[in-house]
Amino acid sequence: MGSASGSIKTAAKRVGVTVEEYEANIAAGLKHCGTCRMWLPTERYAIDRSRHDGLCSTCLDCRRVSTRKRRVGGPPDQQTATLAVEAVRRAVRLGFLEPVRERRCTDCGQPAAHYHHHKGYARTNWLEVVPLCVGCHQRRHIA
Ligand SMILES: [Zn+2]
Ligand SMILES: [Zn+2]
Ligand SMILES: [Zn+2]
Repeated sequence: MGSASGSIKTAAKRVGVTVEEYEANIAAGLKHCGTCRMWLPTERYAIDRSRHDGLCSTCLDCRRVSTRKRRVGGPPDQQTATLAVEAVRRAVRLGFLEPVRERRCTDCGQPAAHYHHHKGYARTNWLEVVPLCVGCHQRRHIA
């Protein structure tokens, strides 16, 4: 038992959160990606039975990006996020999506400010977006 709580303490320290925050995130089904340093749902990780929690230490998006040739600088997740945002902008310009200012926030009904990639930034989800206001958008990324 002592060794288990000790390893949580080490893991929490490594990612820069308190043990309480760490345990709360784990309890919420999240896992910290060692590459993009974001807390992501465990389904965004590949199975790796050699690891203590049975999951790869790097999220699927980071793994995918690191095996692909990099064209733009910056951290992998930020890179795919930029491409995803560009794809949305293009879709709006071409008329596939309504301009976000004409939409209402999915969460609170106020005028929307951003399109949020609610399924993540994988290429297949680039146009899987919901309109959100600034406040609700921030909340979604913290939640
Ligand atoms: Zn990642
Ligand atoms: Zn809102
Ligand atoms: Zn977002």
